[in-house]
Amino acid sequence: MQTVAPAAARARSFFDSGATRPLAWRLEQLRSLRRMLTERRAEFAAALGSDLGKHAAESLLAEIGFVAAEAAHLEMNLGAWLRPRPVPVPLTVQPARAWTELTPLGVVLVIGPWNYPVQLLLAPLAGALAAGNSVVLKPSEHAPATSAALARWLPDYLPGAVEVVQGGIPETTALLAERFDHIFFTGGEAAARVVLRAAAENLTPVTLELGGKCPAYVDASTDLPTAAKRIAWGRFMNAGQTCVAPDYVLATEEVLEPLQRELVAAIASLFGPDPARSSSYGRIVDDRHFERLAALADGSTVVHGGDRDAAGRYFAPTLLRPAPGDTVMEEEIFGPLLPLVPVRGRDEAIRFINGRAKPLALYVFSNDAGSRRAFAAGTSSGALCFDVPAAHLMVPGLPFGGVGASGMGAYHGEHSLRTFSHERSTLAKSLRPDTLKLVYPPYTRTKHRIISALVSPAGRLRRKG
Ligand code: NAD
Repeated sequence: MQTVAPAAARARSFFDSGATRPLAWRLEQLRSLRRMLTERRAEFAAALGSDLGKHAAESLLAEIGFVAAEAAHLEMNLGAWLRPRPVPVPLTVQPARAWTELTPLGVVLVIGPWNYPVQLLLAPLAGALAAGNSVVLKPSEHAPATSAALARWLPDYLPGAVEVVQGGIPETTALLAERFDHIFFTGGEAAARVVLRAAAENLTPVTLELGGKCPAYVDASTDLPTAAKRIAWGRFMNAGQTCVAPDYVLATEEVLEPLQRELVAAIASLFGPDPARSSSYGRIVDDRHFERLAALADGSTVVHGGDRDAAGRYFAPTLLRPAPGDTVMEEEIFGPLLPLVPVRGRDEAIRFINGRAKPLALYVFSNDAGSRRAFAAGTSSGALCFDVPAAHLMVPGLPFGGVGASGMGAYHGEHSLRTFSHERSTLAKSLRPDTLKLVYPPYTRTKHRIISALVSPAGRLRRKG
C-alpha cells in the first residue's frame, strides 16, 4: 500500500510556504494544467479507451476538453472574481470600511470516481488551485490506466502543489485519517457516508457530488424524434455510466408507445444496427458492475436490446418496461438500461418524482409552458433542464451539484472558486475619532437616546444614505 501520510504532509508544507497564494502562481497552474491536457491528450485518451472503451472524440468532449475549458474559464475571470467586494457599513459602526475577500482554505483532498476519471478529478483540481490551495488527489482504482496516467503526468506539470495518491479503500481510509481543510468527494452514497463520518472527526467541510436516479418526463407536445435522440444520447453515452444520465422516462401510455419506437431508431442512428461493433459505444467498467446490470435487466422486462457479452463487458443499449417493485426502479442504474414508466399525466409524474430521493438532475421534454412551470415549482433537484439532458454541465456559470441525497455543495467556474475558498469578512475602523465611545457603558440618558435614534424598535439598523 502506498503510504499516504508523507503526501499529505508535503501538500501541507507546500501550502504553508505561501507559494500558492499569489494570483500569478494560480494562473500559471491553470495554464500548466491546460498544457498537460494538450501535450498529453493522446496518453489520456488511450487510458480512457483502455479503462472504459471511450471513443477519443467522447474523451475530448466530456473529459480532456471539458477540463481545459473549465481551466480557461477560471483563468480568464480569476482576477476579477478575487477582487475584494465592498460591503455597506451601518451607522452604528461608521466611519469604517468593510469588505469580503476570497481566501484559500489550505490543503484540499479530492476523491474521484471511475466513470469520468479525468473530468471529475481535474475539474475540482482546477477550482482548488484557482482558489490558492494545495491538493491531494485520489483517483479511482477502478480506472487504473487513467489513474496511472494522472500519477505519471501531474507531478511533471504541476510540481509542488499537487500530490497524487493511487489506490483503493485502504489508501482512501488512510487519507481520511489525515487532516484536510476541505474534502471534495464524487462517488456513491455508501462511500459518501464514510467520507462524511471521517470529516466529522476534524470538522472538515465537505462537498459531496453523488448520484441517484435522474428522471426524464416526456409529453405529447414535444418533438418526439429529437427528444428520443437526446435521451438516448444522454443515457447511452459512456455506456450509461454517467451520473446525470436520464435514469428512467415517465410518460403517458399514448406517448410511451411512439417514444419507444423513436428510442429504438435513435439507438440505431447513434450506434448502428449492432452497437457491439460501434467504436462510439463504451464498455462496462468491470465484471461486478456487468453482473449487477445483468441482474437488473433479467429482473425486469426487456423490450429492446438486452444482449451482452461478459468477456468483452459489452452490454447493449436496452429499453425496459418495468413492473412496480422491479429492482431497476429502486436503485441508481449507472449502465445502459432505460426503463419506460407509464404515468397518467404531469401531476402523477411530479408525485412519482417527489416520492423518491431528490435527483441530481430532472429533465422535462415539453413545449407546454404550464407543464414547465409545474415541474419548476413542484419539484426539487440539483438541476432542471428543459429539452436536453446532461448539457448543463457544460455551462460554466451554472453551479453543478445535487440536493438532498444527490449531493451537498456545488462547483464549476466561480462556484468552484467559492467552494474552495473561505469568504473572509474584513472590517477596518480607524481609532480616531473614537465614535464607539457613544455606545460604551456607562449608559447615560444621553447615550440611551443616541442608541434609540440609531437602532429602530423594529430591530432594523438605520443606515446613512
Ligand atoms: P464510489 O463511491 O464507489 O467510489 C468513489 C471513490 O471513493 C473512489 O475513489 C473509491 O476509491 C473511494 N471509496 C469507495 N468506497 C470507499 C470506502 N468504503 N472508504 C473510502 N473510500 C472509498 O463511486 P464510483 O463507483 O467510483 O462512482 C459511481 C457513483 O458516483 C455513482 O453513484 C454516480 O452517480 C456517482 N457520480 C456522481 C457524480 C457527480 O458529479 N455528482 C459524477 C460521477 C459519478
